[in-house]
Amino acid sequence: MINIRTPDEIKLLKKAGEIVGNTHKHLQQYIKPGITTKELDEIAYNFIINSDAIPSFKGYDGFPCSICTSINEEVVHGIPSNRKLQEGDIVSIDIGVCYKGYHSDSAWTYPVSKIDTDKQYLLEHTEKALFVGLSVIKEGIRVGDIGNAIEEYIKKHNLGIVREFVGHGVGQKLHELPDIPNYGKKNTGPILKEGMVIAVEPMINLGTDEILILDNGWTVITADNKPSAHFEHTVLVTKNGYIILTKR
Ligand code: MG
Ligand code: MG
Repeated sequence: MINIRTPDEIKLLKKAGEIVGNTHKHLQQYIKPGITTKELDEIAYNFIINSDAIPSFKGYDGFPCSICTSINEEVVHGIPSNRKLQEGDIVSIDIGVCYKGYHSDSAWTYPVSKIDTDKQYLLEHTEKALFVGLSVIKEGIRVGDIGNAIEEYIKKHNLGIVREFVGHGVGQKLHELPDIPNYGKKNTGPILKEGMVIAVEPMINLGTDEILILDNGWTVITADNKPSAHFEHTVLVTKNGYIILTKR
């Protein structure tokens, strides 16, 4: 079943989204060569707690930290550590928070200082793919329409789409129905209705779409070690469009 949110629930989901957006905004100034991803995790944890929310990822299936930090060839679920960011890296930061029982979820890939043109290309088109996917959303469309829009855009730009991980509904749980793949056929899948809240999150690779999971059981990397990017917003479906809840 796909939940349709009441006005009171939407208020809480908006607040949760605002905290996620603000956490991104706050963290962004610290993303520089020399900072460790563990330090970024601590900054995010403190910011979220001081916003009267809790980090959704901490303890999720045993995940040890508050945010995911995935560097370069790491696709998603990177675990914050003592690794320092270096000039030329890209780092995907995924943040989820829970506010009064309601979650929100947003990821963004940041350049660390100057990055090469391949990485710029990857970031530019993964971010655009997110907005291309979002642009079709309104009451009455089907989930496959979103995936189809993303897939068509990414194919045109010769990038690899990660298929093993997908977007999702968001609400009292971080991951709810429906699954929202970043590929698909038009006019297939569940129909979206006003009041549904979903996260759309293309994970796009510069090279192959194949991935591997590291021995830590979490970190997903590209099979060819080429870089990967991840852009995600949680949005509310409306009659004529959508509202981004995780704006920065
Ligand atoms: Mg996320
Ligand atoms: Mg998500």
